[in-house]
Amino acid sequence: MANKAESESSLRASKWSLKGMNALVTGGTRGIGHAVVEELAGFGAAVHTCSRNEAELTKCLKEWRDKGFLVTGSVCDASLKPQREKLVQEVASLFNGKLNILVNNVGTNIRKPTTEFTAEEYSLIMSTNFESTYHLCQLAHPLLKESGAGSIVFISSVGGLVSIGSGSIYAATKGAINQLNSYLACEWAKDNIRCNCVAPWYTKTSLVEHLLDNKKFLEEIVSKTPLQRVAEAGEVSSLVAFLCLPAASYITGQVISVDGGMTVNGFEPKMRPS
Ligand code: NDP
Repeated sequence: MANKAESESSLRASKWSLKGMNALVTGGTRGIGHAVVEELAGFGAAVHTCSRNEAELTKCLKEWRDKGFLVTGSVCDASLKPQREKLVQEVASLFNGKLNILVNNVGTNIRKPTTEFTAEEYSLIMSTNFESTYHLCQLAHPLLKESGAGSIVFISSVGGLVSIGSGSIYAATKGAINQLNSYLACEWAKDNIRCNCVAPWYTKTSLVEHLLDNKKFLEEIVSKTPLQRVAEAGEVSSLVAFLCLPAASYITGQVISVDGGMTVNGFEPKMRPS
C-alpha cells in the first residue's frame, strides 16, 4: 500500500518537473524571456538563451549561476539567418543533438499608422518577429524530434487576436505566429512535438515601459482590463512553463491569452475585432 502511494506521489512529482530536460529561450535577458528562463530553470531544466547585448547577457548568466540555475547563453541577433543557424548549432552541441523545449520569445514593435511605415521598418518587424520564429522552428525540428517529447511555445500577443492599435505590422506577425502554431501542432504531432501559443496583453517590460509610464495611456489600458492592472512578466512565464511540463502532455495547438480578462471584456466595443 505504502509502495503504491509512493509511486503515485513520484508519478505526480514527475508530471510537474522539468528535471533532465533542456530548453532554448530566445531573448532571455529582459522582460518575459527573462522570466521564462527563470521559471524553466526553477522547474529543473537546463536552459540556453540569447540576446544581442553581450554585457547584459554576461550579467544575467552570472546572476543565474549565483541562484543555482543551469543557464548558458549566446550573443545572437535572432533577426539574422546566419546567427540563427550558429545559435542552433551551439544548442545542438551543448545538448547532444536533442532539445525538449523551444520558446520563441524575441519580438519588437514600432507603433505608427500603416501608411507611415517604411520598407525598412516592415522588414525589421517581420524578420525579428516572424521570420526568426519560423526559421528557428525549422532549424530546431530535428532536435525536438530527437528528444522524443518536444514542446514549442510561441510568445504571440493579444494584438494578434484583436485590433488593439499597436501597429498593423506587429499585429500581422503575431496573427501569423498564431496560425503557424495551429499548423505545426498538426504537422509535427507525429514527431511528438506539441506547439502552443501564449498571447500576453500589456505586461511590464522594457518593450512597453515608455507607454506604461504615460499615466493617461496606462489608465486607458487598465480600464479595458477586468483585473484592473497590467501583467507582471512572471504571470506570463507561469503559463509558458505549464505548457512545457509533462502535465500538459495532451495540450497542443492552443492560443491562450494572458490578459486579465481583456479579450472577453464585452463592455468596450472599441477594442473588439473590426
Ligand atoms: P523586452 O524588449 O522587454 O525584452 C526582449 C528581449 O529579447 C531582450 O532580452 C532583448 O535583448 C531580446 N531581443 C530583442 N530583439 C532581439 C533580437 N533581434 N535577437 C536576439 N534577442 C533579441 O520585450 P518583452 O519581454 O516585452 O517581449 C517579449 C515577447 O513578448 C515579444 O515577442 C513581444 O512581442 C511579446 N509581447 C509583449 C507584451 C508586453 O506588453 N510586454 C505584450 C504582448 C506580447 P537585446 O535587446 O539585448 O537583444
